[in-house]
Amino acid sequence: MIETVKTITELRRHLDQWRAGGETIGLVPTMGALHEGHLSLVRVARAKAGRTVATLFVNPAQFGEGEDFDQYPRDADDDAQKLENEGCDLLFRPAAEEIYPPGHVTRVTIERLGDILEGEFRPGFFAGVATVVTKLLLQALPDFAVFGEKDYQQLLVIRRLTRDLDIPVAIEAAPTVREDDGLALASRNAYLTSDEREIAPVLFGTLSQVAENVGRGASGNLRAEEQAAWGRDQLERAGFGKVEYFTVRDAETLEPVARASRPARVLAAAWLGKARLIDNVAV
Ligand code: AMP
Repeated sequence: MIETVKTITELRRHLDQWRAGGETIGLVPTMGALHEGHLSLVRVARAKAGRTVATLFVNPAQFGEGEDFDQYPRDADDDAQKLENEGCDLLFRPAAEEIYPPGHVTRVTIERLGDILEGEFRPGFFAGVATVVTKLLLQALPDFAVFGEKDYQQLLVIRRLTRDLDIPVAIEAAPTVREDDGLALASRNAYLTSDEREIAPVLFGTLSQVAENVGRGASGNLRAEEQAAWGRDQLERAGFGKVEYFTVRDAETLEPVARASRPARVLAAAWLGKARLIDNVAV
């Protein structure tokens, strides 16, 4: 079975040894309940690195009041088996006290980029993510770390913080892994009933349609707001609950699209029963 370490000291001991042997190290942070999306990140890391380390930590700091920290799916044995099958070299699975010992009060916040979209609807979420990712990057100091485009804003937040804090770790992006019907794999899809599961692919379908329409208008008027309003309406008609945002944004800053010449991204978050689904598509 894959070697598992629970302390920062043990983690560093392994990585120091590998570095001394001249090996490149790739890091894949996760919250567990691993699916093909997570495993695709491990494959990206393995293709580039001699050694791949996965981390499994359900980070309490990124769950808000009333969110699903207690219900979040957990199956550490199954996760370890999947990582072993994927050829991952090491699993770091710290307890909460290892990451946040008594007295821990430091938080990493990202102004503006961390306050909009996900940050608006989940206050404190990105501070939680940024704090734990900063710590994991500094604990492991890998050559690179891999994150999924599924969580596009998170990927940009992490790129930003490594630049702003001069953390010498490259951030690699991996494409979103989807079910055959387009639904992005996510641990929280487990919350969907079978009826909701039938509706769920409408999210990706609508994002793709809007991306195509906006792309078609790229030479002239993007009509981005009109397109986004149409997308929101499609989700509501399909049976989604609250659509928190459906929007076309600049792919690098996530600010409203200003010029058609810049890369754009369509992003949405919407509730379906007990599941909050997020997804995004490139224009
Ligand atoms: P999580 O365990 O949900 O925090 O996700 C850990 C990492 O897996 C993050 O970098 C996510 O963006 C990535 N990830 C989650 N779902 C997918 C997916 N369907 N395709 C690609 N990457 C994903």
